[in-house]
Amino acid sequence: MEIAAKEVLGVYHAPAGHWVGDGFPVRTLFSYDRLGKLVSPFLLLDYAGPSQFAPTDKPRGVGEHPHRGFETVTIVYSGEVSHRDSAGNGGTIGPGDVQWMTAGAGVMHEEFHSEAFTRSGGLMKMAQLWVNMPARDKMNPPRYQAIASDAIPVVGLPDGAGQVRVIAGRFGTVAGAAQTWTELNVWDISIAGGACVLDVPEGHNTVIALLGGQLSLAGQALGDGDLAILGAAGSRVSLQSESGATLLLMSGVPIDEPIVGYGPFVMNTREQIVAAFDDLQAGRFGSLG
Ligand code: MN
Repeated sequence: MEIAAKEVLGVYHAPAGHWVGDGFPVRTLFSYDRLGKLVSPFLLLDYAGPSQFAPTDKPRGVGEHPHRGFETVTIVYSGEVSHRDSAGNGGTIGPGDVQWMTAGAGVMHEEFHSEAFTRSGGLMKMAQLWVNMPARDKMNPPRYQAIASDAIPVVGLPDGAGQVRVIAGRFGTVAGAAQTWTELNVWDISIAGGACVLDVPEGHNTVIALLGGQLSLAGQALGDGDLAILGAAGSRVSLQSESGATLLLMSGVPIDEPIVGYGPFVMNTREQIVAAFDDLQAGRFGSLG
């Protein structure tokens, strides 16, 4: 039986960049306010880099700010990022490491270049993915998963075409490293050169972000920072790269609920956004101390 291909619904070039604090020059490759349910259960992907930072003594990053109702997933390719939050969690992640932070009912946190990277300078390349939470879980207590590179299962692609690091979800029979609230996959894929065919579950919205190299997807050429959105129907995804590619493939069962977001809060109703600001004002998100 022929396995149906997932249809490419759109290919998007990265928009102009902006700075998050003074540490992260990012381009927002997708966001829910533009693409809505097409990218559900994901909300946003910020892609920083690669960019060169000179050595300094002055910490670079983004200071204390709140989140509620979703998760921030930080994936480092080069450089080091340090995080600290009001739930008492924190740590430094480097190349290959992932930090999966569940804001849930609310955290305050800060995100900076690590002290060592600040002093040495160097190449920073990272991505931050926002993952939505279903209404039933949005007000759960915060959670923090520090996922070191060596805890992420690596699966080789056939014919030496490359490898898949299973950050979350499943790849074939291999379970990913992160715990998630809904069914989703986050695959960090390196293609060394050649072609591969991936099996992405039927019913999963699917987003591919090219974070280096060049890629051909269903006859369309993608460059660094380009994004492809694929439909939920079908399961076959055919990728080809002559000279190699680094990409994130994110897929998941859409969360069929209203999305109402404002800045660092993503909830289901306007009233819940107002309540988030009230709680922030009243100090109910805690502090970094
Ligand atoms: Mn943040």
